[in-house]
Amino acid sequence: MNKLSRRDFNTKIAKSAGATALMSISPLACAIAAKKDKRKLGIALVGLGSYSTYQLAPALMDAEHCYLAGIVTGTPEKEKIWAGKYGIPKENIYNYDNFDDIAQNSAIDIVYVVLPNSMHADFSIRAAKAGKHVICEKPMAISVEECDAIIQACKENGVKLGVGYRLHSEPYTQEVKRIVREKTFGKINYISADAGYRSMSYPAQWRLNKELSGGGALMNMGVYSIQSVIYGTGENPISVSALEFSTRPDYFKETDETITAQFEFESGAIGNIMTSHNISTNRLFASCERGWYELDPASTYIPLAGRTSQGELNFPQESQQKLQMDDFAKHILFDQPNKAPGEMGKRDMIIVEAIYESISKGGKKIPLNFTSGYGFGG
Ligand code: NAD
Repeated sequence: MNKLSRRDFNTKIAKSAGATALMSISPLACAIAAKKDKRKLGIALVGLGSYSTYQLAPALMDAEHCYLAGIVTGTPEKEKIWAGKYGIPKENIYNYDNFDDIAQNSAIDIVYVVLPNSMHADFSIRAAKAGKHVICEKPMAISVEECDAIIQACKENGVKLGVGYRLHSEPYTQEVKRIVREKTFGKINYISADAGYRSMSYPAQWRLNKELSGGGALMNMGVYSIQSVIYGTGENPISVSALEFSTRPDYFKETDETITAQFEFESGAIGNIMTSHNISTNRLFASCERGWYELDPASTYIPLAGRTSQGELNFPQESQQKLQMDDFAKHILFDQPNKAPGEMGKRDMIIVEAIYESISKGGKKIPLNFTSGYGFGG
């Protein structure tokens, strides 16, 4: 089967399962058909490190619209372990070299790239070329140029693209977005978002290796803070200025240890973030005209918690990863909104690059000009 016909074949399969094919009939008929559609999409995890092992694979055991169908690993010993634990058939197990053969495997609908950051673009593009829908972990890539290449590959191959921003499917975050949308506390005057942890026990880790990570705290935890100030105001920033702080240059040799950045928004709101590989913190706070709201923790995957000037928030706890992957599967199957599209990952990388530029210019204010294409997430 040549590439084009394989792609057509895969697209046909995805569409046959989903409401996309039903767009021409009434919304009610579409909804009924969607409810009846019990097909689960097969996900292949690429990279079986800690996030795949302890979060994504267990979450897939409970997911309603997708399941763990395959794995891609560079470590042969993991093949046996995962096959035994999750009943993954031999034909759905790949390594980094034969990964492209996944194009011929109709059991795999979605490829989820969970590798070190600098490998995201390569595997996302190869997955798209194989005709598979793509979820790419955060940060989406290590440059805006790479984000563009991923988006382009997915468009050219007619596949969907999502970023692993699980919080958009999470109820506390959704409540923040509701508060912002409905202006519950009036105009937002100030928003602050911190995300960091102490990463001092393992100097050989890839997160401290610039070639593999693309950057330090900012690439890792900083993208959560950037996300928080954006969905926490409902606006993209119009400028950023930033500074870097280094207290352990002997340990953080190649990558940033701690960064602070200040944002301006068109509404007049002011934003502040702090991200670190040497300071533990995880919160979001907004001060508004008629009150405030806060999440603490705001982006961990242990349960989030939060309160507003009106009282405690209390939502049921469910696996964020399960909710996220089910949302992406529903986007494919039933044409529901993509909660974290590639353009969102690219927007955040534009901000990351502007922050590094500001730091290199001694904290100079860098203007940001986002067009309407960069949404705030559904
Ligand atoms: P990890 O170090 O635990 O796993 C990395 C995996 O990549 C391992 O299986 C390793 O064998 C493989 N790998 C392949 N080539 C490698 C190389 N050259 N060097 C190092 N490892 C290599 O990392 P992780 O915590 O699972 O993170 C993977 C990705 O997932 C990262 O992009 C990270 O930002 C993202 N992540 C996202 C969340 C989230 O909440 N969305 C949480 C954790 C990690």
